Amino acid sequence: MDGALVLIEAADELSLQALTFARAWGEPVALAFGADPGPLGVGEVHVAEHEAFHGGFAPDAWAATVLELAGRLEPRAIVAAGSDRGNDVIARVAARADLPLAVNATAVEPGAGGARVTRIRWGGSLLEDATIHGSPVLITVAPHAVAAEAAAGAPSVVQFTPALAPSDLVVRAGERLAGVGGGVSLTDARVVVSGGRGAGSAEGFAPIEELAGLLGAAVGCSRAVTMAGWRPHSDQVGQTGSKIAPDIYIACGISGATQHMAGCKGAKRLLAINPDVEAPILGAADYAVIGDLHEVVPAISEAIRRARAAR
Ligand SMILES: Cc1cc2nc3c(=O)[nH]c(=O)nc-3n(C[C@H](O)[C@H](O)[C@H](O)COP(=O)(O)OP(=O)(O)OC[C@H]3O[C@@H](n4cnc5c(N)ncnc54)[C@H](O)[C@@H]3O)c2cc1C
Repeated sequence: MDGALVLIEAADELSLQALTFARAWGEPVALAFGADPGPLGVGEVHVAEHEAFHGGFAPDAWAATVLELAGRLEPRAIVAAGSDRGNDVIARVAARADLPLAVNATAVEPGAGGARVTRIRWGGSLLEDATIHGSPVLITVAPHAVAAEAAAGAPSVVQFTPALAPSDLVVRAGERLAGVGGGVSLTDARVVVSGGRGAGSAEGFAPIEELAGLLGAAVGCSRAVTMAGWRPHSDQVGQTGSKIAPDIYIACGISGATQHMAGCKGAKRLLAINPDVEAPILGAADYAVIGDLHEVVPAISEAIRRARAAR
């Protein structure tokens, strides 16, 4: 095939962005695991069926399946979202196939025997232009580097059962723990309310959670917070946490260290709440409230409640 084969984790924003990115090679074909993900805006979806895909994430089983299908379709590229899973699986594909891999790409120009890629390095402080030689080209797409195209239309679905070896089933997720974010995923959320060391304690996140609840937002945090054990690492925004691109990022009690900003620089608007006029985050903020988050955040929630009651 002329196009790219794209791994689909679910019909979620990041997978749709990966499909959009992959159109640089023409019409892509999608590969899903365990279930038909529904409309994706592509003509053909291959659905791999195996009990390995129903018992939790199994990265080697996914990688073996990608290579089996790629062996039949001979795509020019294999593309995945630059998510934890996407990067994990593609790295295993690269190791198995002994091929080079470009992660966190923001742009691509396919060429003969490879591609020119622009990719994010150094926690977002550097954009690197590089050439990747290999066939197929292996690539993951930096979250929110492209806007996902609409996913209308029912694709034709091709089901198959990959031939997996026992060694492909050794690494499997055994347990899934519920998050504390009220169901809104940090990377997909349109609004993120985040707290830093200025929250003061785990309990200090109560007003942040209340505001997030009112806005249908996800709760994020800085590394100072996860290091203190106030929130789980899954809430962390930054170089060593999630990269997010919400419509608005509300940063409460966060100083704005470069490693934190590497995770939220994709936000379309930034509101900072901080009493320190010298805090670096104010330099990046579109709006700022100079004050104590324990006064400002409850006041915002109260104003929202009053405005809604008056409607
Ligand atoms: C390799 C490496 C990777 C890293 N990765 C990450 C990462 O992924 N994410 C990340 O966040 N950090 C990361 N860091 C840590 C980063 O350098 C900072 O230490 C961290 O972001 C600071 O968190 P903070 O802003 O919550 O805390 P601080 O820098 O201590 O800032 C706290 C802020 O709260 C304000 N404040 C105090 N009281 C109040 C109040 N009552 N109301 C409102 N504001 C108040 C203060 O004025 C201050 O600006 C990394 C560091 C390294 C070395």
